Amino acid sequence: MKTWFKAYLQLDKDIENNLYRKKVTSKFILLLSFTILSVLLLGNFIYSNQATFYVNLSLFIIMSLIMILPGQQRKYASHIVLHFMALGILLVVYFNQGKEYTPIWSLLYIFLVMSLYGHRTGLRISLFYLTILLILLFSFTPSALTTMEFVRFTMVACFTLFFAYLAEMLISRTFEKLITAKSQLEQLSKTDALTGLFNRRHFDEVLPQQMRSANRSHDLLALVIIDIDHFKGYNDTFGHPAGDVALVALANLLKIQMKRGNDAVFRLGGEEFALLYQAKSDQAAVKLIEDIRIAVESLDQYCDIEKKITISAGLLLINSKQNIAVETAYELADKLLYQAKNSGRNKVVISN
Ligand code: GH3
Ligand code: MG
Ligand code: MG
Repeated sequence: MKTWFKAYLQLDKDIENNLYRKKVTSKFILLLSFTILSVLLLGNFIYSNQATFYVNLSLFIIMSLIMILPGQQRKYASHIVLHFMALGILLVVYFNQGKEYTPIWSLLYIFLVMSLYGHRTGLRISLFYLTILLILLFSFTPSALTTMEFVRFTMVACFTLFFAYLAEMLISRTFEKLITAKSQLEQLSKTDALTGLFNRRHFDEVLPQQMRSANRSHDLLALVIIDIDHFKGYNDTFGHPAGDVALVALANLLKIQMKRGNDAVFRLGGEEFALLYQAKSDQAAVKLIEDIRIAVESLDQYCDIEKKITISAGLLLINSKQNIAVETAYELADKLLYQAKNSGRNKVVISN
């Protein structure tokens, strides 16, 4: 029962936005109405109340049909069901002249309205509804309802409304904060603090995705591993903070060069970077990284860095025919980088 309830209301689902709560409320409303109707139907049957039995039976059938509607339509239906319920409460209150605790159902309605429409709209709808209900109840005072009963209900209803408003406001605010924090955390977990580029963790996530997508669309994917040449010497001569400035300058240059939709730049660690981009041809892929290598040579003219820096790079061209495994792609590109280093640095070595 518990598992079914959890599964029906989707309580285990990851909370992505405020709509999730509304969805849960919608489902709860339908379940509630369905349960109430079942109980009423059973009561009618036991006490052989023919008149209301057929009314409830029709409502029960409609409700059963609603329960099997597809998601979006069921959501809209839950709104109608909720207001229909409100109308039902007013009718029951009217026929019972406010006796036998009939108005008490309206307190539940207030909470459901708040949760479904948010605190502002929820307050407006609830106030409108309560006004009608209280006028109706007042008309039965003191013939069917004692003044004390009326006053007592009015007070409880007002306090409930006020508290439901407060609770909904606090919940929605907490929700917004939680969602903002979650997205900030997600952003932080994939960003390199110094350069603002994506980090190694994100590279490990994105590489398989991009390889799969390029494979499906038969596009050519370029994986480039870049390493700054003799950077230890740069740090030793100018100091670590100056080294950091050079790293940020290079990162900014890479960001500027890699600005198309699927292009991605990563700082894998230290002075090592990676690029992922799709290209129309081998030549176009090579030209992009060659242009970057040449641009880095004159970085000192545009940025406030101590001295010229150069980079070496390994370019792995991945097309769907090769069937390169994700695990080996990085290794292959790194080997090409190693070759670039060994053949004199400030070079791009390309896979054949
Ligand atoms: P190679 O051309 O073979 O790559 O030589 P290299 O000196 O660049 O390579 P090595 O691996 O010996 O040195 C990498 C240097 O990168 C060492 C370290 O001081 C520097 N480095 C790594 N991370 C950072 C960083 O975050 N900031 C700064 N300023 N320097 C860093
Ligand atoms: Mg280096
Ligand atoms: Mg290195």
